[in-house]
Amino acid sequence: MDESLYSVRMHSRRENRHLSGAERLVGPADLETAAAALVLRALEHPRGRAEEIRLAVDLVPPSAIRRGRLLDLRTYRVRNYQQGRRAARRLLLDVGVAEAAVTSAMDWIAQGAAPDGRAMRGAMLIDAESGARLEDDPARGVRASRMDLTATAEAELRARLGEQGLDNPHVREALVLASKVLAVPEVLAELCWSDDPDYTAGYVASRELGYVRFPQLKPLGEERGGRAFFVCGAGLDQAGLIAFLEYAVLLFDRIGTIGGAEDWRD
Ligand code: AMP
Repeated sequence: MDESLYSVRMHSRRENRHLSGAERLVGPADLETAAAALVLRALEHPRGRAEEIRLAVDLVPPSAIRRGRLLDLRTYRVRNYQQGRRAARRLLLDVGVAEAAVTSAMDWIAQGAAPDGRAMRGAMLIDAESGARLEDDPARGVRASRMDLTATAEAELRARLGEQGLDNPHVREALVLASKVLAVPEVLAELCWSDDPDYTAGYVASRELGYVRFPQLKPLGEERGGRAFFVCGAGLDQAGLIAFLEYAVLLFDRIGTIGGAEDWRD
């Protein structure tokens, strides 16, 4: 596919604060449908109906489109969110994130990493050695943007996820996001759990482990969630890293393996 794509990005607000954001990369024929679907999402958000919706549409020339493969996905069943967090910690330590950095990320996400004690709009950048937060704006953080699947990869992914009962937008979009984030060599790993009160799942992702889901990383009803991108701090080109995450256009045309669920044993 050598045609240009449109980057369509939606951002919505309610009661003067961020409500939701989502985006697609689509061909001209699918632009109208994609834009309408994003508006509907903002109106049907579980935390309430959007009061402001901003839609941005930008043409992306073929020369600016990079292609990639999604991370492999697997699930560990856990008894409760406490066991989920212990398991997530174990995996992050295994891939080389220091104990201090894991503790820092989990504590920040659990207490609401934005200065007002709520969820941030984007992710924390955390030094994988020291645990220090590196992002300039602690309310916004860093947002990964301009990534999506080709239509063929999306159909394949939906079929494979469907076999595991996982074909929902949460999983699909988080897998695409994590796959872009882990395309950056300076990012060692990612940790995420949702700020959606109805969605308790979360994941750890790294190039080595792939995308590892835990059905429970927080209690039901909890509105605090967040993301941490663990980066190797020494000599880090932070501006270059952020520019890639926010602006580089990455279209995934190949999916990874979709594994089944197994019990976590600790
Ligand atoms: P969600 O999985 O959409 O509930 O998002 C969970 C948390 O991830 C949010 O509270 C934000 O802190 C962060 N987040 C959401 N979208 C992005 C993004 N595009 N890039 C980086 N972080 C994000």
